[in-house]
Amino acid sequence: MPRRDYYEVLGVERGASEEEIKKAYRQLAMKHHPDRNPGNKEAEEKFKEVAEAYEVLHDADKRAQYDRFGHAAEAPFGGAQDFAGFDLADALRAFMRDFGGAGGMGGFGDVFEQGRGSGPRERRGNTLEIRLPLTLEEIATGVEKVVKIRHMRGCGTCKGSGAKPGTKKKTCPVCHGSGQVRMVQRSIFGQMINITTCDRCRGEGQVVESPCDTCHGEGRVREQSEISIKVPAGVSNGNYIPIAGMGDSGPRGGPSGDLIAHIEEMEHDLFLRDGDDLIVEVPISFSRATLGGKIEVPVLGGGRAMVDVPAGAAHGKFLRLRGKGLKSLKRSGHGDLLVRVVIPTPSKISDRARKVLQEFDQLAESKVPGPRRPSDDVAP
Ligand SMILES: [Zn+2]
Ligand SMILES: [Zn+2]
Repeated sequence: MPRRDYYEVLGVERGASEEEIKKAYRQLAMKHHPDRNPGNKEAEEKFKEVAEAYEVLHDADKRAQYDRFGHAAEAPFGGAQDFAGFDLADALRAFMRDFGGAGGMGGFGDVFEQGRGSGPRERRGNTLEIRLPLTLEEIATGVEKVVKIRHMRGCGTCKGSGAKPGTKKKTCPVCHGSGQVRMVQRSIFGQMINITTCDRCRGEGQVVESPCDTCHGEGRVREQSEISIKVPAGVSNGNYIPIAGMGDSGPRGGPSGDLIAHIEEMEHDLFLRDGDDLIVEVPISFSRATLGGKIEVPVLGGGRAMVDVPAGAAHGKFLRLRGKGLKSLKRSGHGDLLVRVVIPTPSKISDRARKVLQEFDQLAESKVPGPRRPSDDVAP
């Protein structure tokens, strides 16, 4: 699929301001957000496309590179996978990061205007990352997992303020509520004003003088929560699911960080995964391989399917069962089930079988070709 010009994707002029770009992205991302268009692949593609365009154009350096070199400029920014084909998780994460909610679509108009410029600011809680082990069966169908996590949550005693009930936070005596300290430095280059975050209040502009007994002034306490995570079908190792606001709450009422669940695929005892395809090995007898015929093979999730082995099938041959693989996360439809037939040699046989084989051995059909050079990939 040819990649469209990022300005065209967002519907803005090349000279658009940062504000115009943000606005255009926000409108388009909301319109195409998967929460609003469940199961709509076209909307999902659009959502990814606008996220990718925004990711480049909202960053002054990347935008300048893009303006000069176009799509060819993107590789140097820390790996081509950053932009070449955003996956849905990337797009959701980018959206969440800037607009505060993959799950919660509401109310990010306010969040949008925050977080920039000077002045006191609340501190955001940590992003927490967890591993989410999934069986291949769970991946095949999609699953809702309930996980227990320990994270910092707002303190109930002080309602997150950190101040003992009945008392209030005070304006910081060092920065007088600005959250910043200005220092004049003199050097050989002249006088410079250095603005740093206030140490006393850590930039919050307010301090707690009588700390809450429960949280010791933090405004948050460690708690265990059960969180339900919806996993779509077809995920794989390396995919992650962001859950907005479920990381640590910020200190003293600051905004919460997010929870990132990293998908970990557990090994299956029968099927090997290759992208959306599944591979299973099925031993068949030498006589069945020679004669051909139908064999029964297992299918993920239970059940069986019949597959035709052509007469004369070689050891290691792959037979393809279309659509019996995993549901694809990126495309519509399913992958295939690949059945690798292998032909074990019996080590113990009956007298009767020996006799039949000895007879077979005398026939012209049992002749094999002479010695030959192995192909390079069979080195032990
Ligand atoms: Zn408290
Ligand atoms: Zn201060």
